[in-house]
Amino acid sequence: MKRVIVAALTFALCTPLFVFGQRNNQTQPNDTSATTKPSDKKPSNKAAAQPVNKEYTDSILANTTDKQFLTDIVDHLPASAKVPSPEKVLGYPIGTPKKLTYTKDQYRYYRELEKATPRVKTFVAPEKSEQGREQMLVVVSDEANLAKLARYKEITAKLGDPRTINDELAAQLVAEGKAIYWASGSIHSTETGSPEMLMEMAYRIAVEDSPLMQAIRKNVIVMITPTLEVDGRDTMVDLYNYRKANEGKRSPGLIYWGKYVAHDNNRDSMGMALALSRNQMSTFLDFHPTVLHDLHESVPFLYTSTGTGPYNAWLDPIVINEWQELAYHEIQQMTQRGVPGVWTHGFYDGWAPNYMFYVANGHNSIGRFYETFGNGGADTQDRTVGAQSGRDWFRPNPPLARVKWSIRNNINLQQSALLIAMGYVANNKDKFLNNFYLKSKRSVAKAKTEGPAAYVLPGDETRKNEAADLVNLLKLQGCEVHRLTNAIETKDGKYPAGSYVVRMDQPYSRMADMLLDTQYYNVNDPRPYDDTGWTLGPLRNVKTARVKDQKILDAAMTLIDGTAKVTGNIEGTGKAGFVVNHTGESAVAQLRYRLKDVKFSSAEASLKVGTKEFNAGSYVIKAEGNPADLEARLSKEVADLGLTATAVEKLPEVAQHAVGTPRIALVHTWINTQNEGWYRVELDRLGIPYDYISDQDLGRIANLRDKYDAIIFGPVGANAQAIVRGPAKFSESEAPIPWKRSELTPNLGLSPDQTDDIRGGLGVQGVANLQKFIESGGLFVTVGGNADLAIDFGIVSGVSIQDAKLLQARGSVLNAVFADRKSPIAYGYDEKLAVYFNQTPLFQIAAFGQGGGFGGGQQGAAGRPSGRGSESDPDIVQGRRPPESPVSGGTPPVDPNAAAQIPPLAIRPRIVLQFAPEKELLVSGMLAGGSELAGKAAVVMFPVGKGHVVMFANNPMWRHQTHGSFSLLFNAILNYDNLGVGRTEAAPRPPRAGEDDEAEQ
Ligand SMILES: [Zn+2]
Repeated sequence: MKRVIVAALTFALCTPLFVFGQRNNQTQPNDTSATTKPSDKKPSNKAAAQPVNKEYTDSILANTTDKQFLTDIVDHLPASAKVPSPEKVLGYPIGTPKKLTYTKDQYRYYRELEKATPRVKTFVAPEKSEQGREQMLVVVSDEANLAKLARYKEITAKLGDPRTINDELAAQLVAEGKAIYWASGSIHSTETGSPEMLMEMAYRIAVEDSPLMQAIRKNVIVMITPTLEVDGRDTMVDLYNYRKANEGKRSPGLIYWGKYVAHDNNRDSMGMALALSRNQMSTFLDFHPTVLHDLHESVPFLYTSTGTGPYNAWLDPIVINEWQELAYHEIQQMTQRGVPGVWTHGFYDGWAPNYMFYVANGHNSIGRFYETFGNGGADTQDRTVGAQSGRDWFRPNPPLARVKWSIRNNINLQQSALLIAMGYVANNKDKFLNNFYLKSKRSVAKAKTEGPAAYVLPGDETRKNEAADLVNLLKLQGCEVHRLTNAIETKDGKYPAGSYVVRMDQPYSRMADMLLDTQYYNVNDPRPYDDTGWTLGPLRNVKTARVKDQKILDAAMTLIDGTAKVTGNIEGTGKAGFVVNHTGESAVAQLRYRLKDVKFSSAEASLKVGTKEFNAGSYVIKAEGNPADLEARLSKEVADLGLTATAVEKLPEVAQHAVGTPRIALVHTWINTQNEGWYRVELDRLGIPYDYISDQDLGRIANLRDKYDAIIFGPVGANAQAIVRGPAKFSESEAPIPWKRSELTPNLGLSPDQTDDIRGGLGVQGVANLQKFIESGGLFVTVGGNADLAIDFGIVSGVSIQDAKLLQARGSVLNAVFADRKSPIAYGYDEKLAVYFNQTPLFQIAAFGQGGGFGGGQQGAAGRPSGRGSESDPDIVQGRRPPESPVSGGTPPVDPNAAAQIPPLAIRPRIVLQFAPEKELLVSGMLAGGSELAGKAAVVMFPVGKGHVVMFANNPMWRHQTHGSFSLLFNAILNYDNLGVGRTEAAPRPPRAGEDDEAEQ
């Protein structure tokens, strides 16, 4: 009796799930056992008549540390006379301790499967990885489904574009179609279990005759990406094998994963800079999978994604409900099987669209992920679970506090839950396909329902290359982009012919809206999991207008076929030389490096040729003294780079300085290569030559100035002391810790850099060499927190890094203002620029530096003193007359007595770019306590001897999103020997009330 009541209650709570669960279950797999009679028996998922692979099954049982980490779904492996189970090809059962499988062996297994059964097909993704490896895609389903794969792809494509069908046809397509469930393995290379698990799962789905597998085969086309980060996987297997061979010795961490970035390969779904992201995107657009499920391993024992919110505000709420529905089904099914620690909600937020699975979420499908418990290799270990072993409302059945954990446990949980999810989608495939159609339809309706109608990239944009590049990114994302045939006037603005139009009445309008709209992240929401703002127009310094007026939809326009490309040219016929406008685009730096042997100079002020205006920093290229084929070569390069060169009769009479092709070194540490990888992405893509060296090299190369003009220390996320010390030596007798190609570690040879010993770091000698390099004329660039290398070791003076007391700006897009537009670093820019900033550093520039340094000094973190009026009102002391102009910023007049103590102008810090006043600071994301940041230096230059240090508080090269900031870095490099140009003393002036800090020099 009691049991019946409990069962009835369970049924009531889960009604929505089970109502759908019953709709479609001619083949009722055991995994929906909650709808059957209550029973003490654990569910069983064996096919009665099918023989079991005894040895393999014994291995599963032996390598699972406790029965509670096993389910009826994976506690056996069916035998097959025809189809090879994994151990027959690999030599070991999946989940055997100390065995990790290289990608080539994974592929070998899947190709053997394909040969043996018509239920498996393999494909290769369009692009090879950056290190040249294939990216495999495996498809598993019933042979009848695979024979008609093209038809099923056609169905999902049609459901994904409702403009071509009506509801009636859609209903027929839903009934005929199959759900497509895509499981993607190991994007994160330290998370080692999923590539192993997926091989076993593919075999099980292809071979097993249990009701669950039959249901999946019948109604679902399973897609498997065996390993997504193929370069990182092979590197990880090498490293693991090295560790096994060197037990008891220290080994390195996984310093390089792919060629460029590590963990951030899962933050590339907006920028699509990596081959793996582009492969996932194009595969999605080929198959239109119903679900994309990414497999991670960092949380005990199985976290299934929903998130805490705030949820991404551009998604259709239908998909958010689908996340919850799938998650709760898995949790219930796993809990019913007695598995502890399967939960959802309290990890990750659900806000930013930069994760790989936005390939699905951003395109009307379901993107989701697991975090299971991984040991980072294939060893069985005693593990302690921290706070996540605590019971909470969202974790009523938490993980155990201490556990012996094996890779087999991890595989059991991952595979069981994944098959439960696939079974659920199989039994509800009509509902999920219909939701996909509905979401697609609502995306097309968006232009007229919630709006906006479109985004317009106006045709009078001066940064035409960057605009085209943004258009091409949207196209890569599957969005359609049009060009206006004629000029149009709308309530939101006037746009010339040729303007790009991103219509919101298309299937992927939500992705475009997500990328181009602005974000507001309330600081009272849960602490963000990642960036809070990403608006691509401002970050790329490209105008994007959000147009609500539906009139835009009726304007004549043509769809762009192929990629958008700007073709440059030479205008005019003058023979004296050429002038090329500095547009603030990367193409300007590219042009310089492409014509290395040609002499260039930069105009130090804006100029006019006829009626045409040129920005300060524009190139002047004289005919005289340059190669005879200059015009032909220039013509070719500007055409390709989308720049215009103006041939002039007479060279402009404006102050100029020569601009060479500085020799660049990009420095990494052996602590972490993650964030500097984004710099290599851009330098490689743009063809800007550089040497990639480690901080150890800085200690070894006594005369850095002989080799380099500019040294960029990529962002590290470690303080100066940690960088100088590097990975520590435990003792003098300790063996070196190599990151190097060897017989045991062949794949490490493909890493961007190698070393015999990762220990040692920059060292004090490295600091000394750097100082000598700068003093003898070099440029040293720091990004974010690694500015403290130059600060803490006394290379520069007049700057400190202030602690934030109130500021909350986690991965936000913020406005900055050029404080000194005569600085060469400002060349090509307008007065303002939106930059990416993540919480630190807050530069405090000494008073003699003038300008922004006063920012923190006056109102500071706490804002104005408590008193009358609003936040911006002056403080009024009772009983005396208020001052006429309360000081709240600006450059205070210098006290004549103090003047003698102030260093001369030529050696003071020069603030080039500073954060905007508080009220204008936020573009996108989270911002609180902005008064602490307002007016602070974003980019500041310090003269040191004959050279310079340039510090960036913003990160100018972040995740292939901040194209608008790239020229700040390129300008600093190209003008490294002229960074003092245009510098003048600010005339003391009385500060104005309410004025924010401004540096004028
Ligand atoms: Zn992960």
